[in-house]
Amino acid sequence: MISQDFTHQAVQVEREYIEDLNEILAKISPHLTEAGRVLIQKAFRYAYEAHLGRKRYSKEPYFVHCVEVAKILADLKMDALAIAGGLLHDVVEDTNIPIEEIEREFGRDVAVMVDGVTKISELRFESLEERQAANFRKMLLSMSKDIRVIVIKFADRLHNMRTIEFLPRSAQERIARETMEVYAPLAHRFGMAIIKSELEDLSFKVTDYEAYREIASLVAMKKDERDRYIEEVIQPLRVELSRLGIKAKVQGRAKHLYSIYQKIHERGKSFEEILDLLAIRILVDKVEDCYFVLGVVHSLFQPLHEKFADYIAMPKGNMYQSLHTKVRGPGGSMVEVQIRTHKMHIIAEEGIAAHWRYKEGMGKDDDLARHIAWVRQFLDFQTDSASAQDFMDTLRQDLFSDEVFLFTPKGKLINLPHKATPIDFAYAVHTDVGMHCIGAKVNKKIVPLNAELHSGDTVEIITSASQKPSQDWLRFVVSARAKSRIKRWLKISQYQQSIKLGRELLTRELQRLRIKFTNEQIEELARESNFDDQELFFAALGNGDLSLQSVMGRLSAKKVSPSRDGSIFQHMIRRVKGGDEGIKIQGMDDLLITFAECCRPLPGDKITGFITVGKGISVHRIDCKNVRHLMDESNRNIAVDWDVDRDQEFNARVRLLAEDRRHLLHDLTEAISPLEINIIGLDMQKEGSLALGTMVVKVKNLAHLTKLIRRMQNVKGVVSVSRLDEEIDKRPEGENDFT
Ligand code: MN
Repeated sequence: MISQDFTHQAVQVEREYIEDLNEILAKISPHLTEAGRVLIQKAFRYAYEAHLGRKRYSKEPYFVHCVEVAKILADLKMDALAIAGGLLHDVVEDTNIPIEEIEREFGRDVAVMVDGVTKISELRFESLEERQAANFRKMLLSMSKDIRVIVIKFADRLHNMRTIEFLPRSAQERIARETMEVYAPLAHRFGMAIIKSELEDLSFKVTDYEAYREIASLVAMKKDERDRYIEEVIQPLRVELSRLGIKAKVQGRAKHLYSIYQKIHERGKSFEEILDLLAIRILVDKVEDCYFVLGVVHSLFQPLHEKFADYIAMPKGNMYQSLHTKVRGPGGSMVEVQIRTHKMHIIAEEGIAAHWRYKEGMGKDDDLARHIAWVRQFLDFQTDSASAQDFMDTLRQDLFSDEVFLFTPKGKLINLPHKATPIDFAYAVHTDVGMHCIGAKVNKKIVPLNAELHSGDTVEIITSASQKPSQDWLRFVVSARAKSRIKRWLKISQYQQSIKLGRELLTRELQRLRIKFTNEQIEELARESNFDDQELFFAALGNGDLSLQSVMGRLSAKKVSPSRDGSIFQHMIRRVKGGDEGIKIQGMDDLLITFAECCRPLPGDKITGFITVGKGISVHRIDCKNVRHLMDESNRNIAVDWDVDRDQEFNARVRLLAEDRRHLLHDLTEAISPLEINIIGLDMQKEGSLALGTMVVKVKNLAHLTKLIRRMQNVKGVVSVSRLDEEIDKRPEGENDFT
């Protein structure tokens, strides 16, 4: 707790740290109010007192860390509240001062910031991964309320990385890895290039010290030579620009060590090639000047490609804007040139911190809102998916993936992660567009929904009111937004389908037994099965959690005559024979229907269903061997009928035996191509002079498959072709298991 002798402490802290305090105040002085100055002074003393006696691994007083974090925040021109938050950021975690006291002393804003960066106690988690995920989630959640939280967190991490050498080796590695995997890419995502570069270099130094040292010394060795060369490029540019009356700042640009390392590793370049790559930057006042200067650069030096990258018209997802081009400098060396306005430059370096300042100045900043929208998307995702692993994986994946730049037909720019598909695009346009997306045109050509989109594509989404999201989509969408929306929809609609199916099962059974039942009686039946809510009752029946048999048992206990025409066995026979019309089976999209792996029914096959706990109905071919066993053992059988759209396709397996010869595969695919059947899996093995193959195909129905088999049989050298799933029936008794 804070001592009464505050004045004494004030004298003490001012004697020791007065220069640091003045430095912080000076950095933000143009915008500092008297109230802000008082707040910072108070936080300064408070943090000093709170951490008094505590030391860091470096043997320095803990308070030094708080001061350094505040300095980083002051460099980013954050306001007095954020700097107070920075000074106090470790108080709650490291001492026993509760957050309520911070709120009392410093107000709500500061308390939200401090709380946002305070880690959740490790006692509450089973694994490190879970704790990590919970802390990131908490941080992002606070950040969505106040951007300054993340800026403080970056300042904290940056100073911790600057002093990481004092930690035990194992902690160094863990923290450096986390920084490389999450914090640096997160800083990049929020456009804070300065922070990102330093975090990367500091982690790089820990994770691969040898490589770090080698690159650092080579860079240092060549520095003078490079500086001289850069001057040779810059000088004529300056002269030409001033002759044309363009106000521009032309400067050399040092690459950070880790980016050099990455280029060597990922692009397979030699160190020499990378170091020879020189970089300059030209800053101008107005956007028009950027394009004009580009022309000047290209007239003085030969551009390497016709194309240049225009990130002004197409800003990156983190709102980075600039023109990029590569030219051949004097003597033939390659020079990378970045051209942008001063404002774009500040945003490129400080990202979200700069956006936050602009918002303070002007009251509104759409770019800031876009950053927050991105954060919310992740929080959204986390609520839908239970596992910590899933959350961290998606976060890392999103942070690391490159982006593609796409356009709507009206020319609106949409950024998506690398490998994005039309479904991702549709969800990025609007959730409703995503939900009803049935097709897409890329550059006016129809493409499949899982097609990979490429930068510059113009994407037009075709929607249909009857279209619904499908489980299948989850296999190829890459954006967190699409993933979370699809998952949420599936969850809800699975529930609704369960209700529908449950209601249908019960009423069908009642009708079959010719029992008249009122709604009140059904409600009573639900209550007796321990469901207060009728919907939940039907849902449990529908997904198999509650068996129809047990509900019917309750009925008969109520002395309702179960049936007029005999035993349950006879009903069974009648149902299997198709005496009643069955439940309509609509195919793959039906979330409560699974097709048994043992016999893989196709439309056209005679089928029957079994209710499986928690999964709804599993459908077998009626002649599937497993059906007989299931029939003997259980009372879960239910009549089903096909009711399939013409366009639906089902997996079927085909076994092939042929003489092995050249072009066999080619001839086979050619033979079946008129049927427009997709082969989705193929496995061919040589056995002596024979080829034995298994093929998985997508077909519409049994007739379609039969045509396929007939065509394959006519190919030269083919000995036999059969539907693989039929072999189930031919296996000897006892060999089957019910999987
Ligand atoms: Mn800290």
